[in-house]
Amino acid sequence: MHSPLTFGDLDPRASDYAARVVDRILQAAVTHGVSDIHLDAQGKAGGVSLKWRIDGNLLAAGSLPDGESTSIVARVKALARLITYRYDIPQEGRMIFGEQALEARVGTLPTLHGERVVIRLIAKQTCEWLPEQLGLPNDILTAMRGQLRSDSGVVLIAGTAGSGKTTTAYACLRAVLQDAAPQRSVVTLEDPIEAELAGACQSQINQAVGYDWSDGLKALLRQDPEVTLVGEIRDAQTAAMVFQAAMTGQLVISTMHARSAADALRRLLDMQVPPHHLLSGLNLLLCQRLLRGACAQCRDEQRPSSSQGDSQHELREASEPAVSCSTCDGSGYAGRVLLAEQLPPLEGELARTLWQSADARSLAGIAQSLGMRTLDTLTQEAARAGRVHANESIRYGLG
Ligand SMILES: [Zn+2]
Repeated sequence: MHSPLTFGDLDPRASDYAARVVDRILQAAVTHGVSDIHLDAQGKAGGVSLKWRIDGNLLAAGSLPDGESTSIVARVKALARLITYRYDIPQEGRMIFGEQALEARVGTLPTLHGERVVIRLIAKQTCEWLPEQLGLPNDILTAMRGQLRSDSGVVLIAGTAGSGKTTTAYACLRAVLQDAAPQRSVVTLEDPIEAELAGACQSQINQAVGYDWSDGLKALLRQDPEVTLVGEIRDAQTAAMVFQAAMTGQLVISTMHARSAADALRRLLDMQVPPHHLLSGLNLLLCQRLLRGACAQCRDEQRPSSSQGDSQHELREASEPAVSCSTCDGSGYAGRVLLAEQLPPLEGELARTLWQSADARSLAGIAQSLGMRTLDTLTQEAARAGRVHANESIRYGLG
């Protein structure tokens, strides 16, 4: 079990109670490698329940009384510079905390039992990463580094929620900033800004005041950028502007929600990006998947042998805390495994297929015949090699 937090020595009546509780939670979260902290108001029962996510698993971390003068949620909102007297609207913000000036994103949501707050910690180390630190294979890294030196085109990182695509996009931008001599003009448009990048000019969408993606992109293109980071391609308008910028001599780094590289390509076509823009503008398309790594220390003790385990059994087995292990606190998971499939260059048969409005499945088939190793194949390989538990491949519908 991971060590539960204790707050018994703090007095809820004290004026600094909420501040001390929040400090303690944040510090413990950093020590335990927590990615998200959930604070839920417990309504009439009073108090706040605390859960947190470690290596992809959400764990209960206790419940505690709320402060009498300042509530715990209000303290978090103050740190994130949110409007503390509004409980009835969702709010989003960012905060810097601790001696190392770590960053976190804070989101609130009004719920039936009171306000809920989720704090996403941005690991200092991951937001300082270069592409080499992501855990990508060498051939993809070489392709990525090469494309990031180019003057124009789109470098697109696709993936589902939680696949680490933003971390990869930041690492790409960092590589650009590191390589650039003389300095290239680097501008970003994000919602929200997840980490500060020295040397880049970052702008954040603010829907509340009417500053949306399309306004932002129009303004950004007038800022004489050479390299732009567009947080996410989410609709036809953003897609059109990204490719237009790429065709007129800018390097654009962006992310997109998709299950596979072929799915991303299909979605771009569905967003009315003309095939010839894709052929000349899409420099690199990756789709990633972030798996929960198996703890190397205890994995052999808690993995059922493959001969005896039906899938249900394995699923249960691997999610149960099994043995006492100091490396993973008995969860069986440690670290992450990043997988990525890279779309082969858009030429030859793949290019011809683009014009024939093919579905994602046939695009994937051609990409595979050209040597693309799919996320599903890579997931199965990782499970066979023991880098992840078998339930990670079950999660993606693989046997
Ligand atoms: Zn372990």
